[in-house]
Amino acid sequence: MIPGIRTSLSCWGRFHPAECRLIEPESRMKLAALFCDHAASGVIARGMGRSYGDSSVSGEGTVIGQTYLNRFLSFDPQHGIIHCEAGVTLEDIIKVSLPHGWFLPTTPGTKYVSVGGAIAADVHGKNHHVDGSFGNWVKGVTLILADGSIMECSPSKNPDVFWATVGGMGLTGFIRDARIQLRRVESSYYSVRYHRCRNLEAVLSMLASTEQQYRYSVGWIDCLSRGSGLGRSVLMLANNTGARALTSSLRSDPFRVRASARLPSVPFDFPDWVLNPFSVNLFNQAYYFKQRDREEIVPYDSFFYPLDGISSWNRIYGKRGFIQYQALFPDKTAQTGLRKILETVSSHGAASFLAVIKRCGEANLAPLSYIHRGYTLALDIPNLGAQLMPLIKSLDEILLEHQGRLYLAKDSMMDAKTFAAMYPRREEFLNIKKQIDPECFFISDQARRVGLCF
Ligand SMILES: Cc1cc2nc3c(=O)[nH]c(=O)nc-3n(C[C@H](O)[C@H](O)[C@H](O)COP(=O)(O)OP(=O)(O)OC[C@H]3O[C@@H](n4cnc5c(N)ncnc54)[C@H](O)[C@@H]3O)c2cc1C
Repeated sequence: MIPGIRTSLSCWGRFHPAECRLIEPESRMKLAALFCDHAASGVIARGMGRSYGDSSVSGEGTVIGQTYLNRFLSFDPQHGIIHCEAGVTLEDIIKVSLPHGWFLPTTPGTKYVSVGGAIAADVHGKNHHVDGSFGNWVKGVTLILADGSIMECSPSKNPDVFWATVGGMGLTGFIRDARIQLRRVESSYYSVRYHRCRNLEAVLSMLASTEQQYRYSVGWIDCLSRGSGLGRSVLMLANNTGARALTSSLRSDPFRVRASARLPSVPFDFPDWVLNPFSVNLFNQAYYFKQRDREEIVPYDSFFYPLDGISSWNRIYGKRGFIQYQALFPDKTAQTGLRKILETVSSHGAASFLAVIKRCGEANLAPLSYIHRGYTLALDIPNLGAQLMPLIKSLDEILLEHQGRLYLAKDSMMDAKTFAAMYPRREEFLNIKKQIDPECFFISDQARRVGLCF
């Protein structure tokens, strides 16, 4: 009999709930048995469910959770190489490595992400322009293939399968464990320069002109501002703080790991009317005008993970959920493309609290990896019901006109035609998948929607 329970699953945007069979193997042995017995079909791995849409949901199939597949296998504190099962979270890695002076080479805006999810989405952080994405730092993975066999993959061993797995959204196989190169840091603190930019042109030029000077950069954009202030932002530019720059009290424990505090939580789903253009505009105005140009030394979690401070913050968007629209434009079209996106969102009154802009560097070899040189803008958009699809379609058109693309880890609504136009290496990916997964054993609802199956 197939183990597991039937349950409704969705991801962070709570936009696509689906009834799935969820299996939580208790060990690597049980995981292996699942594949060898072919006890399931239409399988997709699930990490922490922090992707926004339906990447780790399979309404017609089986979802494999990793709650118990989260052991560390080794850590070399001299060279900063960690070997762990894929269910280990980025938070777990920080706890183990930071006291030894090592930190994540790159990190998304939440630490509640699994290693499997970070590799499968090839996640990026505020330092893409310097360090690239997560996959660049993976030394190797052990992959369980559809037929139950094990394949070791790395940039030098089975490199095609390795790079297809990086950014491959769980569709090449199940990442059982991974070896990751960490980054040396001088402390667990970051020296952050806050700088207000009066409009989009100012923020783009500041991001480009400071990219050699600061390893980390990110801008918060007020996406309801219009006219000459369109795209006004608060930019945060940062480097890791050297031990000598710390105050004497911080210097006594320079690699302090912040204890996981009991987090304040959003206790219930907010009613739909709470977030409206008026309330968001008030918040945005207050935030922008409260900021001063200044420099501060802050702990790593305030800089990298401000949203992790409030548990279940996704409930502020109410029961209907929300989507995140993360658009990437190449350098040459970024200014006009971003301007059009912001004008369209603003004219629809599509209130977005969270709009974040980042500088991106060179792409890696992964055929489905999202990031290449340019700028990326991520907007949270509440589920506006019937108005949502026309808005998204007009944003997609702008992106396509400007050779832009959407991020699979954030996507909830992209169709197969749009995906094919945005990801020209899709066929290359599918050819590799055909060789190792000819029956499309690994599949998610997102893969069905965007045509990453056959
Ligand atoms: C508040 C917030 C901020 C974020 N900020 C960023 C950011 O700055 N940059 C960024 O890049 N992303 C960001 N994200 C997105 C997030 O980093 C990615 O969606 C990530 O993939 C989530 O990992 P997860 O463990 O939750 O995986 P899930 O969401 O559960 O799954 C994501 C994908 O990984 C696959 N997967 C998981 N485990 C395995 C495995 N063992 N083997 C094979 N495939 C596997 C799944 O099948 C799925 O396709 C953010 C998300 C949130 C909620």
